[in-house]
Amino acid sequence: MSPQVKAFYKSICTVLGVAAGCGTGAGLIFKSTSIGIGVGLILLVAQFLVGYIASIRRDQKQEVLAQDIINGVMNGAQELRVPIVLSCAYCNMQNRVPLSLMEDNSFECVSCNQPNKVYMQFSTVRVTQPLSSKIEIREVNDEPTQRQTTINEPIQLT
Ligand SMILES: [Zn+2]
Repeated sequence: MSPQVKAFYKSICTVLGVAAGCGTGAGLIFKSTSIGIGVGLILLVAQFLVGYIASIRRDQKQEVLAQDIINGVMNGAQELRVPIVLSCAYCNMQNRVPLSLMEDNSFECVSCNQPNKVYMQFSTVRVTQPLSSKIEIREVNDEPTQRQTTINEPIQLT
């Protein structure tokens, strides 16, 4: 049984136990079965209502906490600048530019003082095996007809 299911059964038993216990107590005090059942039912409903309101408040608190975390991450990303070496678009001189992923980037070339705008593009490549694991090392015999080769069969794309 998972801890969540255990906790669920435990809370159901607690709610029923409190309602039954208090209902029985009230029934004995007032010497009336109907008062006992009534008190038990009212406590049952009241406990579910309190639990429901408590869970809504907890959810709201967690939502606020999650939003705080998101805001913190966004603020951190806003301030984060990654230094990258870029060639000037005018004179080709290399400039070390602190780049932000959150806003437009531009810089003035240290050599020609021309304003450069940074164009960022991301692309994907296939993950391939390193070449060293594909190379077969063959023994080179003295016979001139046998040659060593590292060229693999061409890859067939389907
Ligand atoms: Zn330049």
